[in-house]
Amino acid sequence: MSALGLGLPLALRAALQAEARQAAPNEVCGVLGGVWRGRLCHVQRHVAIPNASPTPHDHFLIPQAAIIAAAAALQRTNCQLIGVYHSHPYAPPLPSPVDLAECTWEATPYLIIGYAATQPSFAAWLIESATFTHLALI
Ligand SMILES: [Zn+2]
Repeated sequence: MSALGLGLPLALRAALQAEARQAAPNEVCGVLGGVWRGRLCHVQRHVAIPNASPTPHDHFLIPQAAIIAAAAALQRTNCQLIGVYHSHPYAPPLPSPVDLAECTWEATPYLIIGYAATQPSFAAWLIESATFTHLALI
C-alpha cells in the first residue's frame, strides 16, 4: 500500500528552505528520514548530500555510496530512509522531464522545494508505475 500523505514539520520546512536558498542557483538534494504510520509518511529529519551533478543548476545527482551512508546515519537515530528531496531554484515544485526520467524509486516520496531562490514552496510526489502522483503535505 502506498503513501497518501507526507508529514513535514514546520521547523524542517524552514531548514530545507534555508538550505535551498543558500545553494541557489544550484539545486540542493538529500534524503528524508522518518517513520511510516499507516499510509502517512512522517518526516523527522533530513540528511543533506552534496549535489554530484556536473550541471547542478538544473539537475541533481546523489551517488549510491552517499545514499548508503545516509541510510546508515538515519538508522542510528531510529529513522528509516523514507524519501528524497531536491530543489528547483527558479521553477515550480513540479517534476521536470529529467525528474520523470531519473527519479525511479517506486513508492518513495520525492519532495521538491520550488522557487528555492525566491519564495520557496513545497510539493511531494510519489512514483507508481512510472507516473508521478501528488502527495498531500501535512
Ligand atoms: Zn527536479
